[in-house]
Amino acid sequence: MDKAYTEEDLWIRGTEINYLFICPTKLWYFAHGITMEQESEWVDLGRFLHEKSYFGEEKGINIGPISIDFIKKNEIVEVHEVKKSKSMEKAHEMQALYYLYYLKKLGINAKAILNYPKLRETKEVTLEDREKEVKDAIEEVERIKSLPVPPDPVNSKKCRKCAYYEICWV
Ligand code: SF4
Repeated sequence: MDKAYTEEDLWIRGTEINYLFICPTKLWYFAHGITMEQESEWVDLGRFLHEKSYFGEEKGINIGPISIDFIKKNEIVEVHEVKKSKSMEKAHEMQALYYLYYLKKLGINAKAILNYPKLRETKEVTLEDREKEVKDAIEEVERIKSLPVPPDPVNSKKCRKCAYYEICWV
């Protein structure tokens, strides 16, 4: 991540990382500007991240379908994400890791807590020993984006609720 990312770049990249672990076909459509989901609710995450003073207090924000709270505890920023279910756990975890990776580049130590209130469970995610996973994910995102056509769709349970269902299967 050598170039300076804008707020929109950051949001897009976080979403792309998420989609990589949901469905590469979905990632390709999204990356090529075919957006069928409601993305208007996104906020300038990057702006929050750049304004380090923001971390002085608890604050909740929404980024597309993801709700995140930033809480500063001593010198550690906690990125809290509240999830309805674990069905997309890997995607959520990798997106959280990407944000931790980005925060680290800004000199901010952070960890992420995935909260599953319905299950009464939490999961702590830290970047320790996992930077390579993030770098590999970024490379894979770039590889898929560069494909001239979308990867072949794979029918799965995820398709039923996917906004791209009609493109893939109708
Ligand atoms: S409908 Fe299925 S295969 Fe197509 S983009 Fe969505 S999840 Fe992927």
